[in-house]
Amino acid sequence: MASTAMTIELLRRCPHIGCGAPLDGDAVDSDHACGQCGGGVTVCNSCRSANRLLATHCRGCGMATGAEVWPCHPGLRAAGRRDSIHSIKKARTTFPIHLGSPAIASPIGVDGLLVVSLANGDIELLSEYSGKRFGRLTAPDEIVVTPAISAGSLFVAAGPGVHCYDVSRYLDRSSDRHQTPVWSFECNGGAPAHPVLVDEQTVYLIAQDGNTATLHALSQSEGRPVWNEFPRIESGPTMAPLLVNDYIVVISLAGDVFLVNRSDGIVEPSFHTRREVNPQVTPFVERDRIVLTDKNHRVFEIIPNSGGGPLINEVYAMRARITSLAASADFIAVGHMAGLTLLDGRGGRRWSADDIDPVSVTPIVAGDTVFALDDAGNGLLFNALKSNPIDKARLFGANVGPPPLITRTHIAAVSTVGDVVAIEYRPAGKT
Ligand SMILES: [Zn+2]
Ligand SMILES: [Zn+2]
Repeated sequence: MASTAMTIELLRRCPHIGCGAPLDGDAVDSDHACGQCGGGVTVCNSCRSANRLLATHCRGCGMATGAEVWPCHPGLRAAGRRDSIHSIKKARTTFPIHLGSPAIASPIGVDGLLVVSLANGDIELLSEYSGKRFGRLTAPDEIVVTPAISAGSLFVAAGPGVHCYDVSRYLDRSSDRHQTPVWSFECNGGAPAHPVLVDEQTVYLIAQDGNTATLHALSQSEGRPVWNEFPRIESGPTMAPLLVNDYIVVISLAGDVFLVNRSDGIVEPSFHTRREVNPQVTPFVERDRIVLTDKNHRVFEIIPNSGGGPLINEVYAMRARITSLAASADFIAVGHMAGLTLLDGRGGRRWSADDIDPVSVTPIVAGDTVFALDDAGNGLLFNALKSNPIDKARLFGANVGPPPLITRTHIAAVSTVGDVVAIEYRPAGKT
């Protein structure tokens, strides 16, 4: 056992084997990459030791690092409460990063790492703080739906297959950097059409083939089916699968709702919402309710398993065509052709900004603030009190891509032409 002083000395060194360069504490806080080898570094919240990105346990104090996963595709499962956004002025000068290939899927993030999937199958691994490129994986087919990450494993749907990559191992510079998937699975009957959804143990995907949607549930460790059979839902095209309590919820565009029990894959008797769902607007899960929109510009909610069976309530009738939606316990932000409208959690109108560009990608509700990326490429920050933006930042030209991502300290967005921008809204290390 090394002496305490020696241990502390070691923990201020780069954790990557074969490097071990001394790390300046402040530099690590702002950069999160070793200046010598370029390896990704994360700092333990309890003892301040430097660890490898996505390390499961701190090498200083041995505590589980609990690498924080930010929501994969926004809204598919309930996210924790987020603090308000202070400012969106502070764009990092190292951004934008030009990746040079179109992006259709949303970026995802964990522990300081941004994962940006490009339509050509490349998956770029970037530092959230500096844009530094930690590496690149290449999927065997095009990527059009948002991947998911869990415990260091990345689940990518590409073409008809889903592939699991051990990103934690890939980033560990001591091991060889071959990038063969840990496992791959081919969906027969259509390609995954919606973002990948994960819980603690399982990966969920919907493959659509004609009128049949097949829900696949695979073990994260081995890629094996976890149920006796994959439920097939013969109800036409569906929305993305959602995670609400013990169920995966599948909603057809015709308005049928199917609850699939996560433990055994059994589909409960379906119920109908009596309205056609707007296929352009991804539903948003907030605690035990689903907020979504229909084809008549109405916002409505489904509470699938309230005590007395499912509840379906109309929340708000919009005059303009709805293009995006996000919700928290306190607010519902609705993007539309005329701008953005903020409702309280029950649907009461707080304000409406009707003289801005349309907001077609999912906004971000954080505490008492709302971040919206308008179709002209402007980031707009609103608070709950008034319809005038309190802050504004130009992110792109008009090439607005998939929905932006919020992490503990940054908002990151990728354009349709593969430019990545990150704005620091809260200094690193302060929570
Ligand atoms: Zn190093
Ligand atoms: Zn520690």
